[in-house]
Amino acid sequence: MPELPEVETIARGLAKRVTGDLIESVWLGQKKEPLKSPAARIAATLEQSRIASVRRMGKHIVFDLDRRDGVERALNKAQWIVHLGMTGRLQVCEPQAEIAKHTHAILRLSSGRELRFVDPRRFGRLSVATSAEFDATGIEPLEINRDRFIALFHGRKTPIKSALLNQKLLRGVGNIYADESLFRAGIRPRRRAATISREKLAKLHTAVVEVLQEAIALGGSSVSDYVNADGEEGFFQLQHRVYGREAEPCLVCKTPIKRVVIAGRSSHYCPKCQK
Ligand SMILES: [Zn+2]
Repeated sequence: MPELPEVETIARGLAKRVTGDLIESVWLGQKKEPLKSPAARIAATLEQSRIASVRRMGKHIVFDLDRRDGVERALNKAQWIVHLGMTGRLQVCEPQAEIAKHTHAILRLSSGRELRFVDPRRFGRLSVATSAEFDATGIEPLEINRDRFIALFHGRKTPIKSALLNQKLLRGVGNIYADESLFRAGIRPRRRAATISREKLAKLHTAVVEVLQEAIALGGSSVSDYVNADGEEGFFQLQHRVYGREAEPCLVCKTPIKRVVIAGRSSHYCPKCQK
C-alpha cells in the first residue's frame, strides 16, 4: 500500500504534469466500489474544470479545481480526491496508449493527454467535494510542531505504535514508517504512550519527520505494485532498519530484530536498542 512518502511523490509528479490543464470530458467505468461520490456528480464536477493544483493530504491526492458555473460564470472551487488504496495508480498518457485492464476513470485533458485511474484490487476511492474544502482527519505529520506532537501523544493509554497509526491523530503515517521512527527514537512499539517522557516524545517527533523526509527524497519506498505519475516503476527503497527484518541482526547492536503483532499489524523492533 502506498504510504505517505509515495503519495507525496506521486502528487508532486502529477502536479508537474497536469496543473493548469482543463478536464474536457470524463469516462467512468461500471464498477461501483471505486466511486465514493455518485458517478454523475463526479463527472459533473470534473468536466470543464481546470486543475489549479495537485497536492497530498494525508494519504489522499487532492486535485484543486476551478470551475465557472451559471449565467454569471462565477468562479467556483471544487476538489477531486483520490485515495490509491492498495493498488491504485494514476497515469498521465497519450490517448492512443493501450487502456490497462481495471481502468475505472479516464479524464480527457485539453493538452491532448489523458489522466487515467487504474486499480486492479479496487480498494482505491474517487470522490469530489464542492464549496466546503475537503478535510482529512488528523494533523499533517510534516507540519505539526514539537509541542503539539508531544501534547497529541502525552497521556494516551494505547501503545505508542497504535497511536502513531491512528489517523485521527496524525494523518498518513503507515506501518513501515511508524516502525522505522520508533527504532530511531529508541522506543518499543508496545510502550504505552502515557509512560513515555516528553524528551522521548520530542525525539520521536524528530524521527517521524526525518524518516518521512528521507523517504520522500528517495521517491517513496515501495513494497507494493504501483507506479509513479509517469507510469514508471522503480522507486528507490529507503533501507529499512527494522521493518520486515525479523530475526535479522540489528544494524546498531546485532541483536535479532523481533516481530510482534499490535492491533492486527506487524511491528518490528530491536529489544536492546528500544525500551
Ligand atoms: Zn539494536
